[in-house]
Amino acid sequence: MGSDKSYLIVGAGVFGVSTAYHLIQKYPHASVTIVDRDAYDADSRVAASWDWNKVVRADYDDIIYCQLGLEAQDVFETDPLWKPYFHKTGIFWICRSDYAQEVIDNYKKLGRKADLKALPIEEARKLYGGLFEDADYTDVKEVLVNKTSGWGAAGDCLRAVTKKCIDLGVKYVTAEVTSLLLDGGGRRCVGVRTSTGQSLRAAHVILSTGAYTPKLLELSAEGTGKPDLRADDRIVAGGITTGMTKLDDASYGRFANMPVGVQGYTPTAGPFIGSLPPTADRELKWWGQTIFKNTHEVVPGRYISAPPAQRDYAQWDVSGRLKEDINHANTVFYGRKGATWKMEKHRICWDAFTSSGDFIISPHAAAQGLYVAACGSFHGFKFFPVLGKYVVQMLEGELAPELREKWAWDRDRPDPALFADFPRFEMRDLIDGKETTQGQSLGQWQGQPQLRAKL
Ligand SMILES: Cc1cc2nc3c(=O)[nH]c(=O)nc-3n(C[C@H](O)[C@H](O)[C@H](O)COP(=O)(O)OP(=O)(O)OC[C@H]3O[C@@H](n4cnc5c(N)ncnc54)[C@H](O)[C@@H]3O)c2cc1C
Repeated sequence: MGSDKSYLIVGAGVFGVSTAYHLIQKYPHASVTIVDRDAYDADSRVAASWDWNKVVRADYDDIIYCQLGLEAQDVFETDPLWKPYFHKTGIFWICRSDYAQEVIDNYKKLGRKADLKALPIEEARKLYGGLFEDADYTDVKEVLVNKTSGWGAAGDCLRAVTKKCIDLGVKYVTAEVTSLLLDGGGRRCVGVRTSTGQSLRAAHVILSTGAYTPKLLELSAEGTGKPDLRADDRIVAGGITTGMTKLDDASYGRFANMPVGVQGYTPTAGPFIGSLPPTADRELKWWGQTIFKNTHEVVPGRYISAPPAQRDYAQWDVSGRLKEDINHANTVFYGRKGATWKMEKHRICWDAFTSSGDFIISPHAAAQGLYVAACGSFHGFKFFPVLGKYVVQMLEGELAPELREKWAWDRDRPDPALFADFPRFEMRDLIDGKETTQGQSLGQWQGQPQLRAKL
């Protein structure tokens, strides 16, 4: 075991890297090691955090995430390390619930002045040169327009901050972790074992392994004979499709300064869909609405959802049916304007979900020295600058009670039916040539004509 000030962080996504960044600044002489299966500057990575772009916003109906989003955004806007990666384009959020008012109320309660308002549909349609005039406004109450939100160049930002950590003294090891190492009759976690048989040891082991977390805990439970290491129903790995189109000159002229677009639905109607403004390569991106598990046997007799076993999670192998999900997203934002766009660069992105959408930033109850910082639940990127601050507070037992309860390993977990983004489909039902049968896998959206048609 290492000294008290030794930290081993498994996973170099936003949770892991932010933790390393805050630790090394607080304790410049500590031993801080990140281990990840992919090099931080690899051309392709499995991390959800590694992406062309992600929405950066504080537009939350949950006041805790609203506050956290504002705190992170302030860093994005002012700190020279983060600033180059934030694009304050604004957000155009089509709301079918009271979401807009709830966000506005939260800004007020937090005493935050910002250029945000809720607009009636007809007024909103005319904004931004009418870019969203052909969007689907069925059942829409109003449109939230927040000029202070925007997007982050996710992969570039992740690489830059990881590089900064390394410059500050963090060690980066590229290796696949296959199991936790336990000592003291299984009571204490002292490190990890890698696929090459190497042991890495530290006083604190922090799992920031994203969608792979439940599988790693299953493998560790099997390998150590300690079943209470398992995540059970606390964490579910879910996949979502993204797709991009490269805009031609005419379209780029119109869309270059667009805001982030969001189609918000109610939990009974389905997850929200997003459209992100063009990158420097003029590529406009969407994410789809079909969020799925990949349930399979990971150790004998244990069936859980985990990303596909391939080294790259088979993330570039996207079925025609999932590509359809992106075509649907295009239509509900741009109608005929997007009709001729060629869809390219499809990817399946995997994240770890809890049924409340809350993170887990907590000691693991089964072993001393073991901690979990994960479960972005499809919204974790925007908090990148500040996540590590809270992980360090958790490590030191200083997390505010409200956050300690919200992000606990053990807590009451709500019915996933209330969380629209919770994975409801199975990947095996979404491969080409397979009809999705009416029944369990269609979950609660069977009554939605547009979803039935799409799937
Ligand atoms: C399609 C999509 C769109 C999203 N859009 C947004 C958005 O607009 N805004 C937003 O704020 N959030 C968004 N999110 C959510 C956000 O991307 C995630 O919540 C966040 O990036 C999760 O970060 P993480 O550090 O937990 O996991 P990851 O970024 O997935 O990192 C986990 C790391 O652990 C490593 N790892 C795992 N297992 C092992 C092992 N056994 N050995 C070694 N290394 C291992 C992986 O290689 C990976 O690098 C989106 C997510 C998806 C999927």
